[in-house]
Amino acid sequence: MAIDLQQFCANNDQACFGRDYLLRPIHVGDWSLASNGHIAVRVPRAAGSDVTPDVPQSVLSIFDDHSTEDAGELPLFTPPIGECDCTRCGGTGIDEDDDYGGVTKSTCDICEGTGKIPLLHVTSIEINETIMAARYLQQIRALPFPKLAYGFWPGRHDPERPQQRVHFAFEGGIGLLMPLRRPYATHFQLSRPGAAS
Ligand SMILES: [Zn+2]
Repeated sequence: MAIDLQQFCANNDQACFGRDYLLRPIHVGDWSLASNGHIAVRVPRAAGSDVTPDVPQSVLSIFDDHSTEDAGELPLFTPPIGECDCTRCGGTGIDEDDDYGGVTKSTCDICEGTGKIPLLHVTSIEINETIMAARYLQQIRALPFPKLAYGFWPGRHDPERPQQRVHFAFEGGIGLLMPLRRPYATHFQLSRPGAAS
């Protein structure tokens, strides 16, 4: 099953400050990978794909310590449905940037001018004291046979060198997710299926 890598790539907002290489899937060596700076996935390289030039080594090496230790099912979660006002533009659909000498108005990148965003995008979840954006948990869930590496959890594996990412795997690939520092407005506590709570 081919994974749609583009869904894990950055939008213009996330790729700013010279990170244009995140806008599209990256093909190097044996692998194809995609990341928006928050979530990253890697799969065997697509046949016939051209090598992506000028990709920083720091991007290629993020999977070097990937672990699938104690991989298990994702927590059960019923995401909130519906929409709320866009957190960037406040519901106007217009992004106002204060510039030298004036205000520049443009269509809001986050809501694409609609003024609304899915509630899921302002929802966070917490598993074993690690906070994550709910939208990414659901994105992982949509992959074939997804699993989280519960044995290699952020801050737990090696006290000397706590790793900061949630590691996951799916049929045909692996991935990493950066936790959030703080919960969002809507927040849910989840637990591993079958774990005592
Ligand atoms: Zn907006």
